[in-house]
Amino acid sequence: MDGTKIYISAEIPFNLAHPMTSNNENTRFYQDRSKELAAQATNLSYLTENISLLRDVIRFHENRYYVMNDPLVSDAEFDQLYKALEKTEAANPQLITTDSPTQRVGPGMTKQFKTVQHLVPMLSLENSYDAADLLEWDRKARELAGLEQLAYCVEPKFDGASISLVYENDLFSRGATRGDGVEGEDITLNLKQIKSIPLSAAFSKYGIQQAEIRGEVLINKQNFQQFNEQLLEQNLPPLANPRNAASGSLRLKDARMVGKRNLEAFIYHIAYLNVTTTHKEIPSHSKSLEMLWELGFRSPVHEKKVFNGIQGVIDFCKDFEAKRDELPYEIDGLVIKVNELALQEKLGMTTHHPRWAIAFKFKARQSTSKLLQVGYQVGRTGSVTPVAKIQPVPIGGVTVASISLHNQDFIREKDIRIGDTLLVERAGDVIPYIVKSFPELRDGSETAIVFPSACPVCNTALVKTEDEAVWRCPNDGCDAQVVERMIHFTSKDAMDIRGLGDAIIRKFHELGWLKDIPSIYNLPLDELRKMEGFGAKSVTNISEAIEKSKTQPLYRLINALGIRYVGETTAKTLAQAVSHLLDLATMDKESLQKIDDVGVKVAESIQQYFSNPSNVDMLKKLEAAGLQLQSVHQPPVDGNLKGKSFLFTGTLYKMKRSEAEALVEANGGKILSGVSSKLDFLIVGEDAGSKLEKAKKIASIQILDEDGFIKLIH
Ligand code: AMP
Ligand code: ZN
Repeated sequence: MDGTKIYISAEIPFNLAHPMTSNNENTRFYQDRSKELAAQATNLSYLTENISLLRDVIRFHENRYYVMNDPLVSDAEFDQLYKALEKTEAANPQLITTDSPTQRVGPGMTKQFKTVQHLVPMLSLENSYDAADLLEWDRKARELAGLEQLAYCVEPKFDGASISLVYENDLFSRGATRGDGVEGEDITLNLKQIKSIPLSAAFSKYGIQQAEIRGEVLINKQNFQQFNEQLLEQNLPPLANPRNAASGSLRLKDARMVGKRNLEAFIYHIAYLNVTTTHKEIPSHSKSLEMLWELGFRSPVHEKKVFNGIQGVIDFCKDFEAKRDELPYEIDGLVIKVNELALQEKLGMTTHHPRWAIAFKFKARQSTSKLLQVGYQVGRTGSVTPVAKIQPVPIGGVTVASISLHNQDFIREKDIRIGDTLLVERAGDVIPYIVKSFPELRDGSETAIVFPSACPVCNTALVKTEDEAVWRCPNDGCDAQVVERMIHFTSKDAMDIRGLGDAIIRKFHELGWLKDIPSIYNLPLDELRKMEGFGAKSVTNISEAIEKSKTQPLYRLINALGIRYVGETTAKTLAQAVSHLLDLATMDKESLQKIDDVGVKVAESIQQYFSNPSNVDMLKKLEAAGLQLQSVHQPPVDGNLKGKSFLFTGTLYKMKRSEAEALVEANGGKILSGVSSKLDFLIVGEDAGSKLEKAKKIASIQILDEDGFIKLIH
């Protein structure tokens, strides 16, 4: 190749580096330009004149946010710049470049992914599991290299979906899945949705004309959890692990949906380079990670570590495994690579894996185990949840012995029988999950799971309404429900009585000290002091926490009662609507429904609760014990949302839902918990559920997306 073709992704002032280059001078330059452009955000002719600078400023901020994890502007400031670019491009379509930050958004749906060939095959890795494996591998590597000692670069083994990216003349031109290693699927449009993958990168600065680079796409634990919560909200079973979520997301037919999954891409390998004469050889793997970082890729520069000799590597592997759960994303091990690239070449590869690299695998987080029997847990509202008791297996450092089977539908879908072998997974902080059963391993002795018809605790016949997937015990006095209600009552979001945890409540219930909620305020502290395991200090702590709970605001008490359909949000509106909690007992369904956020279902549930004399009796006992049943009204906040009510559905991607709700309240608005004619605004995020359908049928509700909401606030 000759060095004639030098493409520069945007008109970069010649004395400055690319917007992704992270030196202080560069940062100041783009930060200053950012402010200037923001000040001119409505000046179309200024923006048009400076359009390529505007694009670079946006690239700079994207890099700070998505790659460096260290944004320099607020989301709103970034949006302002982005909108300005959109507007400028709309007015001057001839100025749009293929790598403009606006061009991530693809056109509609992919029907079928094309098969494409990788420039260099994507190999697998050899695995190691302990120090002995690593020592043996090191011995062979040194022998092949003919050296006494080798330098190794160690980095995380990201647990996601592997990808290959091709850049030509600085432009991202093709992205593919690994496939069978030789051929993969062309998922370019989907990969353009991932903001940590730059649409252009200044490879030409390094004399590189074409590059194929490799990496892994992941979804971090927090986004994964949020995604699963949404599935649960829609009564869908959650995804088993972040890896499945990432690879599934990459193969979605609608590229815009990919963008909303908040995927991240780590790039850790340069597989192929086509260079010009100005190219200087890269000496080592660690240097290539640094180069990728400089080019704007999220390479593991900060995670990697270089060691001389294998002993340091072995120690590092042990330490890292212990800290595995502290990372925001999943890794399944570390990869150890001979650092010097010339030596990598010398060592070469087998048909299966390179000889210069090895994976050190952490303890598996999946395991198979036998389903021994099914138990049934009764919740606070009487719901009966089947729980699988399995042959205890260690998974990712803990022993798993029981796992939720959710409900009958889950059991049916996964085709689970007693005696079956199950594949069980526990990823990080995620609760254990049954991935699948193995019907092919059955020997005929397996038996169907038969749901009980009576409560396993109090023997009352179970009931099930048509619109629910769960069976319930209808007996309010059921011991299991009584205990669960007390656990809910004392929990953090309710009365927040520290020191009275699940186990202690169960124990005190067995001892006969806690038989209902009021008995919490009547604990025999003298007896408690005599008990083994309770020092004077812990008894004082418990008694102080109980005392303190008496002054909790009314909405916490309402939430703590565990009235069905009355969560924290509704509890807040109820507390505002009455002057004393027992006012609710005197209200009929119609007047209850006049309260914001209270629909038919909620009103019925409240009425049912207060028409039960034992509940009213209990509340009177609580009041006598000194609890706060009076409502202390707060004057409404003044603000531009005053008097307006809001509800959120689906995932927001610019802020957390709790932040958005706080924003509403800070501006004088209030949050409702369901769709009704009392609702003014429904804010719709990604994967909105049934609330949206319901709201569409009520003409007075304004439906806004996240951007519309942000506009409304400002
Ligand atoms: P395995 O699929 O268990 O054979 O492991 C090989 C795969 O690990 C590769 O194909 C990559 O997709 C993936 N991998 C994750 N992180 C790295 C890394 N830092 N270096 C190399 N491969 C990695
Ligand atoms: Zn029961």
